[in-house]
Amino acid sequence: MTAFQELMAFQRETEALGQVMGRLGWDQETVMPSGAGAQRAEEMGALDGVMHARRTDPRIGEWLETAKAPDEAGARQLDEIRFEYERTQRVPAKLSAALARTTSLAHRVWAEAREANDFEMFAPKLSEVLDLTREKASALADGGDLYDALLQDYEPGATGAELEAMFGALRPRLVALRERVLGSERVVPAMDRAFDEAGQLAISNKLAAAFGYDLGHGRIDKAVHPFSSGSGLDVRITTRTELHNPSNCFYSTIHEVGHATYEQNVDPAYLLTPLGRGASMGVHESQSRIYENQLGRSRAFTGWLFAQMRDEFGDFGVATEDDFYAAINRCNSGFIRTEADEVHYNLHVLLRFDLERDLVAGRLEVADLPEAWNARFFNDFGVEVDVPANGVLQDVHWSEALFGYFPTYTLGNVYAGCLNAAMRSEVSGIDEALARGETKPATDWLQTKIQRFGKRYLPKELIENATGTAVSEAPLLDYLDAKFGDIYGV
Ligand code: ZN
Repeated sequence: MTAFQELMAFQRETEALGQVMGRLGWDQETVMPSGAGAQRAEEMGALDGVMHARRTDPRIGEWLETAKAPDEAGARQLDEIRFEYERTQRVPAKLSAALARTTSLAHRVWAEAREANDFEMFAPKLSEVLDLTREKASALADGGDLYDALLQDYEPGATGAELEAMFGALRPRLVALRERVLGSERVVPAMDRAFDEAGQLAISNKLAAAFGYDLGHGRIDKAVHPFSSGSGLDVRITTRTELHNPSNCFYSTIHEVGHATYEQNVDPAYLLTPLGRGASMGVHESQSRIYENQLGRSRAFTGWLFAQMRDEFGDFGVATEDDFYAAINRCNSGFIRTEADEVHYNLHVLLRFDLERDLVAGRLEVADLPEAWNARFFNDFGVEVDVPANGVLQDVHWSEALFGYFPTYTLGNVYAGCLNAAMRSEVSGIDEALARGETKPATDWLQTKIQRFGKRYLPKELIENATGTAVSEAPLLDYLDAKFGDIYGV
């Protein structure tokens, strides 16, 4: 065997073990017996040790020195392996262990603090997590920008400065749209009655099928927080139901199906290799968002969904397809990011991006974080945050040291905007198909242009190859202005 083949064979086993760990995580959130927690922690710990030893195995360094890639895809495989290996080498084992220990504790303290609505309770732990994160960032940055170093885990190639410019262009137009929409006289109907769970799940299954989710290589279960897990031949999703709000279930399903079909559609030649999964968090979110929003919440598709609702629930209090479309896209100025509509969602993310960048740069102290959060929220949303659980304590990310993760949500929306514009100019008949509950013209295009490549290209390169133009926030803003201008008559 050549050095390249030996390295790839070693990597394949590591990837397989990674999939096993992921499946244990899936099991824990879905079907694990409640009494199994302590043993599961030990099982995960044992596997984690095996994974760490494999990722830092000095043979990887030796193979990398002599391996010759047989082709361009092979060269990308080597780039990925080298990138991961060098990052792992840069962070001292002691620091890695301290981060794992501290975040595990911080996660618990955060949950208690949120429950008690007490930021002071969480602040010392958050400071510890932040200090360790900054230490890790310094180790990775090699004298460069700390936040940029962290970003690379989620969005390879992205920089804080570039995101700042893009988000700076988004914010004023989003704030203006938000004001127009909330100031509209038009009454948008709400769905306000109980919808039984069996009926919601029956429609949820139809939606998963409509968006091309392959149940021969996946399954759908329930979980408190919907997620997608796995890649290649076994990609599972979860959804949830809310008695009075069936769209929570429907759009959770479509969103996770977007993530899952992306993984299912990666070129099988990349199975269990570093290229065998989504390109980045941002590109992943672009797929889930375009499925959920530009396709799933479109006038055409909601027309079909309206008929499914009628079949399942009879007359459910919304009279027409147009009313249903408006109800599905109803805007509310809420406190919570995960419940936000398309108009408000990115404003939530922009706030977190600026604050976490200031925290990492040392421009903002943890003690001053709630005040900074509340001031910014009032500025962008026009509402005073009432309690910390509705403000600074609502998200899990910082307790888990996921600094640099938030911007990928909005980047995903921006990419989705770019892809949607390009797709609609290239492919005809998308809306006619959506009106029949068929997504194939759209999802085939996404599969061909994005999904099959896995991690073959860097995120920006991948999107720009697909659209033929530079990544820009403009298509997303134009789409939002047109859609909500129409629904709200503004
Ligand atoms: Zn997502």
